[in-house]
Amino acid sequence: MAFTSGSNVLLKNIPYQFKDVSLLDNRAYIGGKWLPAESGATFPVLDPEDNVTIFRVANLTGAEVHKAIDAAQAAFLTYKEFTHRKRRQLLHQWITIVKKNRDDLAAICTLELGKPITESYVTVDYGLSFLEWFEGEIERLYGETIPAARENNRTFTTREPQGVVAAITPWNSPIAMILRKVGAAIAAGCTVVLKPAPETPMCAIAIAKLFERVGYPAGTLNIVTGDAASSPSIGNEMCRNKLVRHLSFTGSTAVGKFLNGECGKLLKKTSMELGGNAPFIVFEDADIQKAVDGLISSKFRSSGQTCVCANRVFVHRSIMSEFAEKLNATQQKTFVYGSVWDPKVNFGPLYSSRGLEKVQKHLEDALANGATVFDKTSNTKNQGPNFFPPTILLDCNAETMRFGREETFGPLAPLVPFDSEEEVLRLANTYESGLASYFYTENISRLWRVAEALDTGMVGVRVGLVSACEQPFGGVKESGIGREGSKFGVEDYTNVKSITVGI
Ligand code: NAD
Repeated sequence: MAFTSGSNVLLKNIPYQFKDVSLLDNRAYIGGKWLPAESGATFPVLDPEDNVTIFRVANLTGAEVHKAIDAAQAAFLTYKEFTHRKRRQLLHQWITIVKKNRDDLAAICTLELGKPITESYVTVDYGLSFLEWFEGEIERLYGETIPAARENNRTFTTREPQGVVAAITPWNSPIAMILRKVGAAIAAGCTVVLKPAPETPMCAIAIAKLFERVGYPAGTLNIVTGDAASSPSIGNEMCRNKLVRHLSFTGSTAVGKFLNGECGKLLKKTSMELGGNAPFIVFEDADIQKAVDGLISSKFRSSGQTCVCANRVFVHRSIMSEFAEKLNATQQKTFVYGSVWDPKVNFGPLYSSRGLEKVQKHLEDALANGATVFDKTSNTKNQGPNFFPPTILLDCNAETMRFGREETFGPLAPLVPFDSEEEVLRLANTYESGLASYFYTENISRLWRVAEALDTGMVGVRVGLVSACEQPFGGVKESGIGREGSKFGVEDYTNVKSITVGI
């Protein structure tokens, strides 16, 4: 049954009643005030289940981003004086409020991302785990004492917050991406101007609504909504405004390279969490069912729309047919389709027609170059305009087909046969990106050898999941710069200051 939420900004009936409709707002948040765009412009946010407009949100320009940066700088001058203990107390209150509003946050994520509701709870809890970890890290931002070089000197270091952080986040897993980035910066003592993806701005707005209730200085967190791809003044302001001391970006490698280049002109510090094209390798000595289970999770969770999703699946030629059979049987048993509001459903549509088009192009390219679909008798009915079912491809070639060079970002599993460890390591490491990789073997020497040889920031050995708040998350090569989560995630927003005292 469909009913309204009671909110005047939600433009469609949905089968969920918000507990707190004030979390739904379509304005930007600058210096503690909720503001429409000065021009009055808005942009649409679509429901991925049917491409119907669900919200219209303030469409800002660089001039308003400039004001948000000024507000963040003013807040920084107050916030940086807070003791670690006070910062920790505030963060603890924010965590408590986010937890209390878990249902509404999950619903907003489902609404604008098309994520099945059960998966949306997972992303809210994953995001919360980072806030909880960062709360503890606040009190571990230690400096060091260093034996002095000169007589009657004493030398030590402190860790200081950097200042205003400009943060840009993608649409996939919006709540977790925002909490992982903004939570670390705030824990370090920085203030933030966040530009969320135009596909999922409402998650950011709801998070800011909860943040507002905590009692941080006005301007500690600002939300600037807008479509930066068609309004370059937003990115320009974030890169060129000298008050911004750190640009923290999560998104595609192409946009990351551009922003990093712009920041480089001012030698502005950047964190870049960019795209991956994860190799997933199944050696001939692997436990095949374990590898299948790992691939189900690494390839198909979130309908294949995570940066660490397996993209190129290398399977030893001798076990290819058994692996493909088991993979197909397991995926058929695992996934339940239907309305994303149904808690039993665990596989949803792609986030947009743009996402669908890319997956379809990768499929067409592979088929035109000799690949075949493993099981053409799909067990799925049409689930809306952006739906793409889990699809297994045989006879794939990672060197000639498009998926080998680009992230598919969808539930297409191209199986590539290989004959030797040397060959597969060459193929796995060829690509310019190096975010995550996975492999399955039961051979202990190979386990260490391959884990060390894979040129990626994260390696999953006999597991399909590689991220958690305790662990550093990030890539090498064109997958980025810096690490999120873990102690490194908070340290990244601090400067080490060396102090020498003559006595
Ligand atoms: P995208 O690069 O198109 O957009 C990401 C963000 O950048 C959005 O907020 C967008 O509005 C903004 N943006 C786009 N052009 C801009 C410009 N010129 N100036 C300023 N901002 C601009 O990426 P996407 O399609 O939203 O997200 C998917 C990508 O993100 C994938 O490549 C994925 O691998 C990557 N990703 C990486 C990680 C990681 O931690 N490494 C995590 C999630 C997603």
